[in-house]
Amino acid sequence: MDIGAVINREAVRIKGWWREFREWQRTPMSTPPLSDSQTACLNCEESYDGDFCPRCGQPATAQRFTFGHVMRQALDVWGLGGRKSMPRTIWHLIWRPGYMIYDYLKGHRQPYFSPFKMLFLVSTAFAIFVHLLPGAEANVDTESAKIESIERVVSDYFKDYDKGKGHTSEEYLQSAQRIMRPVRKVVYWLDTTDVAMAIVFHLSVTLFVMRIFRTTPRMGRATAVEHFYAQVFISSQLSIFNALSILLLVVFKGHATADMSPWLTYALYVLDFRHLYGFGWVKTIWKTLLVFLLYFIVMLLLVFLSVFFLMYSAVALTEVL
Ligand SMILES: [Zn+2]
Repeated sequence: MDIGAVINREAVRIKGWWREFREWQRTPMSTPPLSDSQTACLNCEESYDGDFCPRCGQPATAQRFTFGHVMRQALDVWGLGGRKSMPRTIWHLIWRPGYMIYDYLKGHRQPYFSPFKMLFLVSTAFAIFVHLLPGAEANVDTESAKIESIERVVSDYFKDYDKGKGHTSEEYLQSAQRIMRPVRKVVYWLDTTDVAMAIVFHLSVTLFVMRIFRTTPRMGRATAVEHFYAQVFISSQLSIFNALSILLLVVFKGHATADMSPWLTYALYVLDFRHLYGFGWVKTIWKTLLVFLLYFIVMLLLVFLSVFFLMYSAVALTEVL
């Protein structure tokens, strides 16, 4: 047996398979041909050719009820049946995310599940999954932990604060805590409400994406809302990959945390942006890095600002009271 010939044959086969996959990524489906049989509408008795009644809009598929029909309707409630099926949208989100988001934004709405409904269902499923899987720790207090470290800095500051003003450092500390109480509540709610946290995160990322990907080869000048819709899809995509990586870690290492590796997150963003916005690989890698660098710097600035704000407002509050 000639090893070289075998390798060659396999290489040709893999190449062909890859070419087909790339072709599918770009054009995954075609609209089915118009049905050419005559239908009599059961609602308004109009006779017509096609899939929908031109007079009242009832679909030609609305015939006598069957068991299959009931099943389809029941699945539809959960986004599992019909043409806008969620599993199919998830399948596309895994294998051709950037292309699918592009198609959706450009007007291919009919074949895909609504991104907001999907984010809600996927986040809920993800939360249940993390709680059910033994060994996968749920990191619910990540943002609250940041608030606590801000408070620690402020309380350290008040320990050495000039006490020649007739107030004890304890009083300053109490004022700081009073100011932080509503903030803590909001942050705690965000930490325990996955969908809200995802929306807040992707809304803020949208700001930087809009700046860095202002004019792009594929999307041209996208609107803010279009960028945000893309982020909502990406949010579901990240949850799906997060679930997969947790599953792999638990199977092979016995435990995992609910936070995905930042490198995997970054790689997924690069892949999405490459196919959605159409810049070359190098430019996409660089621009995506810039998005997260900017995000990181602005968040750091916000933390510093909130520390200063908390110090000054606690002093002001204490001296007013
Ligand atoms: Zn009709």
